[in-house]
Amino acid sequence: MKRTTHWIDGKPWSGTAERRGDVYDPATGQVSGQVDFASAAEVDQAVAAAAHAFTAWRQVSLSRRATVLFAFRELVEGHREELAALLSAEHGKVRADALGEVSRGLEVVELACGIPHLLKGGFSENVSSHVDSFSIRQPLGVVAGITPFNFPAMVPMWMFPLAIACGNTFILKPSEKDPSASVRLAELWAEAGLPAGVFNVVHGDKVAVDRLLEHPEVRAVSFVGSTPVARYVYENGTNHGKRVQALGGAKNHMVVLPDADLDLAADAAVSAGFGSAGERCMAISVVVAVGDVADPLLGKVRERVARLKVGPGTDPSSEMGPLVTGSHRDKVASYLESGVAEGATLAVDGRQHPIEGDRGGFWLGPSVLDDVSPEMRAYTDEIFGPVLSVVRVPTYQAALDLVNASPYGNGTAIFTNDGGAARRFQNEVEVGMVGINVPIPVPMAYYSFGGWKSSMFGDTHVHGTEGVHFYTRGKVVTSRWLDPSHGGVNLGFPTST
Ligand code: NAD
Repeated sequence: MKRTTHWIDGKPWSGTAERRGDVYDPATGQVSGQVDFASAAEVDQAVAAAAHAFTAWRQVSLSRRATVLFAFRELVEGHREELAALLSAEHGKVRADALGEVSRGLEVVELACGIPHLLKGGFSENVSSHVDSFSIRQPLGVVAGITPFNFPAMVPMWMFPLAIACGNTFILKPSEKDPSASVRLAELWAEAGLPAGVFNVVHGDKVAVDRLLEHPEVRAVSFVGSTPVARYVYENGTNHGKRVQALGGAKNHMVVLPDADLDLAADAAVSAGFGSAGERCMAISVVVAVGDVADPLLGKVRERVARLKVGPGTDPSSEMGPLVTGSHRDKVASYLESGVAEGATLAVDGRQHPIEGDRGGFWLGPSVLDDVSPEMRAYTDEIFGPVLSVVRVPTYQAALDLVNASPYGNGTAIFTNDGGAARRFQNEVEVGMVGINVPIPVPMAYYSFGGWKSSMFGDTHVHGTEGVHFYTRGKVVTSRWLDPSHGGVNLGFPTST
């Protein structure tokens, strides 16, 4: 059975863990391996290695850092298939989806290759007579990333390429459900020439997270996961004096106006609702059908859902894989019952969908709940599975009010052929990432990713220039080199002359 352990100071950890967790193959339901859970002492070992490495890494030239990043980029590119296979084996997602995840992570590595440009400061000559001012951005020190199960490669890659490029050293605490990809990435970093201790991985659960949040040498924490844990990490991390960005859960609405292209909208709703079995923070979980659009749209959605091939990620023809664990599958399925009990119509029952895989797998086919209303649990809770809810509303204003009343504000989309309506929506909607005829508007690496309200705690989004700001501190230097004009003691507040 496969054993996954920590990666500390450039090598696998050689100790014996006090606690371990099972890792499953979701397509068969079998335990495929075990992962070591770090104790506080093991987290301390990783922090010590990272703190030691920081002293030298922060002084490494920008061009040398960029060289290591380019090498890492080439290695990840060359191992895309292998990484994707690791993701499918432990998460369950299909190969195309896993390859897409690696590609989106690579885009952040590519952004980080431009670190010499991203870290450029400003310089002002002669701010006062013979005085110059300039700004620089410096790394924080040891920083940590705590990541969710649903993107075991991409979400860590939202964080560590820029953190490391900025001169920090990094500790990743990946999800204990699918830990292998993070260790493979650590090996590729080592092969790329990254010095030992700059990138470390500790596996585990709350024990490891709590130690990272408390440890005085950890300067900043990036978190992505569910809203309750994001809030906890934000509050505890900031209480311990750390800079924290904590991205939480989501409930993403797709508003369909009556003038929308309904084939485009149906393709989008099915792709964004059921891709990765709905286990994406940018998945569409609610279709808001405006006016009389619901019936024709639902007809087109049903046709498409019926054709979806659900099977193991290893089968290239599978379009949707299993859910990550048996308990998660059961929880997601429970919303079909609660939805009906609360008055929704089960328009498509995923429990009846044909499954082309091992019967022991954590399967649940795609489902559609119609006539959902905002007080139902299927609406208020983040289901995080292949269940698409349809809420019928009479007007654009009712749709907007519904989206803005949600406690979440991660992503949203509007489908329309009316540019004015789309423009009004982008202006009025209280959500961090907006798609116009685009169902999953994940920003490119050079923009920043982050939601609003309960989808994000902290004020700096991930990657893009905000990522560079999160992982650095600004410093402004004002310098005067002595010249014959220096004027002796002056107790007045410095002003320009
Ligand atoms: P999770 O919150 O259960 O776990 C995330 C991380 O926190 C994991 O590393 C886990 O080990 C750790 N953790 C779990 N419980 C903890 C606790 N009580 N104390 C301390 N640490 C704890 O999330 P998940 O189930 O792995 O991932 C799915 C969730 O992540 C969904 O809610 C999804 O919307 C969210 N997500 C959000 C984004 C985003 O960008 N906003 C992206 C991906 C996933």
